[in-house]
Amino acid sequence: DSSDEEGEEYLFKVVIIGDSAVGKSNLLSRYARNEFNLHSKATIGVEFQTQSMEIEGKEVKAQIWDTAGQERFRAVTSAYYRGAVGALIVYDISRRTTFDSVTRWLQELDTHSETTVARMLIGNKSDLDNIRDVSVEEGVKLAEEQGLFFMETSALDATNVQKAFEIVIREIYSNVS
Ligand code: GDP
Ligand code: MG
Repeated sequence: DSSDEEGEEYLFKVVIIGDSAVGKSNLLSRYARNEFNLHSKATIGVEFQTQSMEIEGKEVKAQIWDTAGQERFRAVTSAYYRGAVGALIVYDISRRTTFDSVTRWLQELDTHSETTVARMLIGNKSDLDNIRDVSVEEGVKLAEEQGLFFMETSALDATNVQKAFEIVIREIYSNVS
């Protein structure tokens, strides 16, 4: 075990998946740059952003991938999933169809993953509670059935965004260390 060696770094690939317009790109920009865009265009997207955090005195880097809109064409490529050890599966609490898609996204993730993947179900847009279409209980239940972490977030008001990413990254770390 060389984990105590000075200078050792961890680099984890994390993917964000889920239907179009659930807020994937904004969750990433909120986490990585503390930015939110009300009119974000699916075409404006970077491949990934790298964020660092410290766990047990070690520098852990997460390379977090965004689909950059390719999910609209039902064509998230296998390259996107390759090497991923963490995943955020996102739906929009104000649109039930996006919640119904979660099992399909989980299947796609399973198909493409070769190792243990730390997975969190995210009900995004918790700020839209007044037009909620999926209850918290339903999110909790699905997460329990599928063995996922669960959290409701808002990329708009920043609720739970950092927490969600950090839980996934810590879980990956505990899976590999
Ligand atoms: P993506 O297609 O999954 O990457 O979704 P985007 O990040 O592009 O967001 C789609 C739309 O939802 C944009 O108009 C965002 O401004 C909006 N949006 C994203 N996150 C939130 C949120 O937490 N709350 C609200 N109210 N709107 C959000
Ligand atoms: Mg996007």
